[in-house]
Amino acid sequence: PERISQGAVSIQRLRFGYNPDTVILHDLSLQIPAGAFYGLVGHTGSGKSTLLSLLLRFYQAQSGDISIDGIPLAQFSDAHFRADVGLVPQDPFLLAASVRENIAMGRDIAEHDLQSAARAAHCHDFIMQLEQGYDTLLGEGGARLSVGQKQLIAIARALAGQPRILFLDEATAHIDSETEQIVQLALTELRGRVTVIAIAHRLSTIRAADCIVVLNHGHIQEQGNHEAL
Ligand code: ATP
Ligand code: MG
Repeated sequence: PERISQGAVSIQRLRFGYNPDTVILHDLSLQIPAGAFYGLVGHTGSGKSTLLSLLLRFYQAQSGDISIDGIPLAQFSDAHFRADVGLVPQDPFLLAASVRENIAMGRDIAEHDLQSAARAAHCHDFIMQLEQGYDTLLGEGGARLSVGQKQLIAIARALAGQPRILFLDEATAHIDSETEQIVQLALTELRGRVTVIAIAHRLSTIRAADCIVVLNHGHIQEQGNHEAL
């Protein structure tokens, strides 16, 4: 029934495997304060995306608890949960539609709010440089965007829903360093307003994170800020 009010995430002894015989996350515990910027790193297969999937309720844990603002994850209604949680996937898809429609994604979002989301994602300027601005067609047969620009559009898309928590699975494909800095800036600026949990393949993306969590074979190996690690 509840909406997410603050966005503090509590994970207690979370255990999960895709089948009963293998454990991918081993009794993992983690506290993420509301409005904090957390980075998640670790070698390939360490369980980063799996952890995100559980936080997004794509899978059920075998044991342990996840709660948000002290409320068990299962208690949020689907509609509210989807509205309050934003996801920027590793390889965002674009509709064969305008930039505006790609950000709004069928939601009724006022132009002003849509453009503020694009500004917060730092893609407003490059959108304005496209031939027809927010009316430019993207996707199949549309303007060609770099992987990084797609991620920025996906950040705008997620922010347009005014989420309390933003999950980001950083693109593994090459992103030019300028766009990467923009992603980093956008995430940093959300601090205090939106809880950000970002899987990063490059340490530079989450250099400014409040806390970097290092996953190793489904265990938290260490955590701390960039200076401490
Ligand atoms: P990467 O950096 O490559 O994205 P990751 O840290 O995100 O890696 P996960 O995708 O969470 O790693 O995978 C953790 C483990 O779970 C791996 O051993 C992977 O093979 C396995 N796994 C992931 N998804 C599934 C699935 N849908 N079914 C079965 N096993 C899976
Ligand atoms: Mg992954």
